[in-house]
Amino acid sequence: MGDKAKILIVEDEEAIRTGLVDVFVYHGYEVDIADNGNDGLSMAGSGQFDLVLLDVMLPGINGFDILKQLRDQDREQAVIMLTAKSTDEDIIEGLSLGADDYVAKPFSITQLVLRVEAVLRRTRPTGDSAVFIELDDAIKLDTQNLSADINNQTTTFTRREMDILQYLHQHHERPVPRDELLTNVWGYARNLDLETRTVDIHIAKLRRKIEPVPANPRHLVTIRGAGYKLLSK
Ligand code: CA
Repeated sequence: MGDKAKILIVEDEEAIRTGLVDVFVYHGYEVDIADNGNDGLSMAGSGQFDLVLLDVMLPGINGFDILKQLRDQDREQAVIMLTAKSTDEDIIEGLSLGADDYVAKPFSITQLVLRVEAVLRRTRPTGDSAVFIELDDAIKLDTQNLSADINNQTTTFTRREMDILQYLHQHHERPVPRDELLTNVWGYARNLDLETRTVDIHIAKLRRKIEPVPANPRHLVTIRGAGYKLLSK
C-alpha cells in the first residue's frame, strides 16, 4: 500500500477531538486538528489533506459554510460531516453542498473508520497495490486489466467483481462479513442490511468464473456466520 492518508479533524469539543485523534493515529493515519471554524477553513483549503472530518457546529465559521467555501473554490477535498444533529434536512444540506458522507453523533468509531476508508478508496486511488493475484498454479488474476488466466483460458471480470476479489485478498487472513464488503467495495455508508443479497449474487458469479466446481468452492469460500474468505495457496 502507498503512504498513509492525511486526515484533518475540525472539531471544537475537546473530548471528541482527542478521541478521534487517538483512533486515527492508532489506525496509522497522519492527523492534524483545528478547534474552530476559521482555522478549519484555512487548513482544509490548503489542499494538503486527503480527507477532512468536519463538525457542523463550530465557533467561527460553521461546518456547512466551510464546506460551501471549499466547493466554491473548486476544492476536490474529500469531506465527511460530523454533527450532533441528525435530521433529514441536515443530511440533505450536507450532501447537497458536496460532502462525501455524513456521520451523526453519537457515532460508532468502527463505522466512522470504515466510512473514512470507503471515502478514501473512492477519492484516493491506490497507486502501487499488487497487480497480479495468484490463487494457485492454474489461476492468475490481473487486477488492472480485469481478467484472469484460468487453466490457460482468459476470463474477464467487471471492476466490481475484481474489487471484491482484491479486497478479500488484502484481508485474506480472516473472513470478511458482507456488511464490510458493502461498505468498502460498494461504498455504501447507510442501509447496510438492505443489500446483502447483492453481495451473495456477486459471489455466486465469481465462483462460476474462478471455481472448477462452483458448488464446492476451493478458493472463494463461505465461513458460516462470519463471511467470505479468499484462499490462495
Ligand atoms: Ca461542535
